[in-house]
Amino acid sequence: MPKGVQVRPLFPAPNSRQATPSILKKYRRGPHRAVECPAQMPDKFKCPKCGSGRTKPLSMAIAAGTRRRRTVGVSRRSLWTSSSTYKSDLVASLPQRPSNAGAYLLIFLGVCGLLLTLVVMNNPNQSGVTIFLAVVSILLLLAGYFAKTPANQLSQQQESWDNKWLCARCGHQWNG
Ligand SMILES: [Zn+2]
Repeated sequence: MPKGVQVRPLFPAPNSRQATPSILKKYRRGPHRAVECPAQMPDKFKCPKCGSGRTKPLSMAIAAGTRRRRTVGVSRRSLWTSSSTYKSDLVASLPQRPSNAGAYLLIFLGVCGLLLTLVVMNNPNQSGVTIFLAVVSILLLLAGYFAKTPANQLSQQQESWDNKWLCARCGHQWNG
């Protein structure tokens, strides 16, 4: 090495005079980490799989990835509006927040079916239709009954879903 050329290390050696406590801290962490995450994010916000900081709670990822568009159409006779929902493929593949909505819908349809059965029952010519409606209604009610998640189990599932995080870089999901 030619004389007069000083090689300045990236960080002063720990035993040098320049080494203040903050520099020492940086020294221990190493330069690569200081460059990668200057904000020093807690590990909770970092993807455990790829280490990316581009993570967000699942609920926020779904809300942000779902866009509503309202279209207004005008013709000579009418004015109509339609609103459609767009989701990216990633967002569409994410698990929805657990709920009993599907089970309640089945039970509701079953009750409607039973009411319809009662109406058709008065007509003796429609006995075949009556039996068909009754069977379908009872099946719907049973399906709804068995699809329903018990309240304490459901709140547990919802809590776990609420704590889920998503990595926008590799798509990994984990519980925060
Ligand atoms: Zn990741």
